[in-house]
Amino acid sequence: MFDVLTDKINSCVMPTYNRFPIALKKGKGSYVWDQEDKAYLDYTSGIATCNLGHVPATVKVAIESQLNELWHCSNLYTIPSQEQLANKLVEHTVFDQVFFCNSGAEANEAAIKIARRYAQEINQSNKYEIVTFNQSFHGRTLATLSATGQTKIQAGFNPLTPGFRYLPYNDRKALKDLIRQETCAVLLELVQGEGGVVPADQIWVHELVRLCKDNDVLVMVDEIQTGIGRTGSLFVYENYQIEPDVISVAKGLGSGFPIGAILAKNDVAKAFQPGSHGSTFGGNPLAATAGLATVQTMMQTDLLTEAKQKMAYFWSELKGLASKTPEIKQIRGKGFLIGIEVKGKAIDYVTKARKAHQLLILVAGDNVIRILPPLTTTKEEIDYALAKLKAVFENDNG
Ligand SMILES: *Cc1c(COP(=O)(O)O)cnc(C)c1O
Repeated sequence: MFDVLTDKINSCVMPTYNRFPIALKKGKGSYVWDQEDKAYLDYTSGIATCNLGHVPATVKVAIESQLNELWHCSNLYTIPSQEQLANKLVEHTVFDQVFFCNSGAEANEAAIKIARRYAQEINQSNKYEIVTFNQSFHGRTLATLSATGQTKIQAGFNPLTPGFRYLPYNDRKALKDLIRQETCAVLLELVQGEGGVVPADQIWVHELVRLCKDNDVLVMVDEIQTGIGRTGSLFVYENYQIEPDVISVAKGLGSGFPIGAILAKNDVAKAFQPGSHGSTFGGNPLAATAGLATVQTMMQTDLLTEAKQKMAYFWSELKGLASKTPEIKQIRGKGFLIGIEVKGKAIDYVTKARKAHQLLILVAGDNVIRILPPLTTTKEEIDYALAKLKAVFENDNG
């Protein structure tokens, strides 16, 4: 399937991804297998999506039984699993209402739309502007790439959607420019994922939230990568002791079944009424069932408590590795959203980890290695990954 010399695949699929030259056919827990039955330890979790590991039993059983009942029926009817999933999300968060869609970008589209509609229909103002941050990532649709503070993602797509303004991240001085007359919301990641695994500074976040609350500007947190247990709590905003007005969720919500959502407080949620937003597939019976089983599994077991212990262990071992490894400049992130800033090119380490050690990890930008273990990984797997990482940094090609 792959050209042995170039590692490239002959493909009719548009080349929008720099794909790694392996094709996976099976996954179980923390492992995936390629076409030749070669096993890999998957510390990418399908980019922060398979947070319960691959093919988690509870979600599998739930989807299987739903498969025999009803796949799709449109949002013109009440969907019981969707109601239950919304109730579960509300029960475990500070929010009151949920809108379902199919992906992260769509969730952010919904956030952008509800913010504008809240300003224009509920508050009867002419505010429209949404402030986002440099190096952020909010998706690939026209509005969400316009919200994204990275020119490389916007290149060639002019004209961008108007109404976004970007500020430097974690910069307290720049907060003086946070709010203008036309500003209706601020959209931010509390750990920037694609932009290099950069956690938000607590004090900066608190100042930002206070400014927003004082000026009736919505605080919207993009939890697409940080959510569904990735950092040790269901959502990372809990760690910052803030109450956003809106969060966007996707990736981990369906354990790999496509589903996205926004969660909002009542006063904001009322900006969406019949006809103001919609999606054919959003929260359909299969997707909502996957989401419900995922959130139930996460919240009704010791999974998060145990994950937090494993996170603490991995972090302390990684810090030990970093202190002995001159190629490592910094380790940063939160929980199982880990960035290792290296002196060289991150992709070289990632390639070596895959080829020589059957360990799958990612990059986030040019010089940051990104590691996203499933929350269900074991201490033995962590030790194995640590040994492999050590070997990668030791220039060991074996
Ligand atoms: C992945 C991601 C998105 C986009 O999600 P898609 O499902 O790919 O549209 C948006 N925001 C953040 C923070 C993400 O990590």
